[in-house]
Amino acid sequence: MNNEAIQSLVTRVWDDSILPQLVEYVRIPNKSPTFDPDWEAHGHMEAAVQLMRRWVEAQPIRGMRVEVLRLPGRTPVLMVDVPGQVQDCVLMYGHLDKQPEFTGWSDGLEPWTPVLRDGKLYGRGGADDGYAVFASLTAIRALQEQGIPHARCVILIEASEESGSPDLPHHIDALGDRLGTPSLVVCLDAECGNYAQLWCTTSLRGNLIGALRVDVLTEGVHSGTASGIVPSSFRVLRELLARVEDASSGAMLLEELNTPIPADRRAQAKAAATVLGDTVFAKFPLVPGMRTVSNDPLELLLNNTWRPTLSVTGADGLPSCSSAGNVLRPHTTLKLSFRLAPTMNPAQAAASIQRTLECDPPYGTRVSFRVESAMGGWNAPTLAPWLERSMHAASQSFFGRDAMYMGTGGSIPFMGMLGERFPGTQFLVTGVLGPQSNAHGPNEFLHIETAKRLTACVSRVLADHAARN
Ligand SMILES: [Zn+2]
Repeated sequence: MNNEAIQSLVTRVWDDSILPQLVEYVRIPNKSPTFDPDWEAHGHMEAAVQLMRRWVEAQPIRGMRVEVLRLPGRTPVLMVDVPGQVQDCVLMYGHLDKQPEFTGWSDGLEPWTPVLRDGKLYGRGGADDGYAVFASLTAIRALQEQGIPHARCVILIEASEESGSPDLPHHIDALGDRLGTPSLVVCLDAECGNYAQLWCTTSLRGNLIGALRVDVLTEGVHSGTASGIVPSSFRVLRELLARVEDASSGAMLLEELNTPIPADRRAQAKAAATVLGDTVFAKFPLVPGMRTVSNDPLELLLNNTWRPTLSVTGADGLPSCSSAGNVLRPHTTLKLSFRLAPTMNPAQAAASIQRTLECDPPYGTRVSFRVESAMGGWNAPTLAPWLERSMHAASQSFFGRDAMYMGTGGSIPFMGMLGERFPGTQFLVTGVLGPQSNAHGPNEFLHIETAKRLTACVSRVLADHAARN
């Protein structure tokens, strides 16, 4: 394999062809169904699918078949099937749906306005995860142009990931045997610890989302009249939350949520903490004077990748400050987003949290915890020696440094599904979501140089996969 030839093709395709497409893609506000229930009528998702489909069809890939999978009432999936030269199958995964806008974008930057600046493409969805189909197919093309064999590659780009991938299993079921049995999954929707080497994700946390509602009155009452007599729904919420979370440390108090951290993952986190040092926390836009949960990078990595956490992500029943009067409000609802340990059973976590929150309600208030979604995390199977060698060689060839392994605090629902469906499969889960890239928040960017190097790394792994026996 001629690394320079791979690199120069990848660079050329990225500069001439992929970046102009991603610029157009950023303009499309194709928010995931959770954030745009009328996605079908709005037509943005279709526009994004067609943009990618047109580009894919124009690529010089031998024998490629391109198809948009459709099921009634569900988001589509773009499927690209590339025949291989060896009897084997690789599944390459990405998604094209996007997170909503969020607030706080810096001057000159906006979610749906692409801006190329300092080697980065700013805008929603470029890095998470619009680039995946372009990078995947270009990695295959780079091999074909050098006559290097690869296995059959099936690229699946779904459109419900940011909603927890509710539509994807239906498409997978509908595909049946057509998917084959992949011996390698390549997922380009993950994080990287820095932009200096190849980062392989070895675990993902699960995610449990629900709305916790407390009702105390049938209508709001003057707070001067009612306070001290009627308990505030907000205070009751605080009391309920204190049952599951230690308010001073953020630790989860429900023992069954704190699953043991495997020794190999602990060792990988230790190596990653050594490489990353302070960047584990320095990457966050902390307000001046602010400290993180711990000052030990290893503890922070373990907290973020293997320990359960709670974030309150929304509220109902609370007016904005500017329109809030002196009222003891009738009810408060908080949206709770729990991150679960990779090996935690999500249904068991949901039942345990619901039981804890709803039992014995303070003052006999009406308390409900409505679970909106519960998805499991993922812990990678033991790495095959060929893949470990390949990832290191790829990282050395195209980044000039060793590959690193880490857990990721977020979720990619499909990885868990695949792990269950194809227990013998190996995984290369990687991505460009590094420091400050801020997918889901303001100022999301795609680090272009990293995306190019990553594309070349995927080429190398596909070549090694085909040659491994
Ligand atoms: Zn993503």
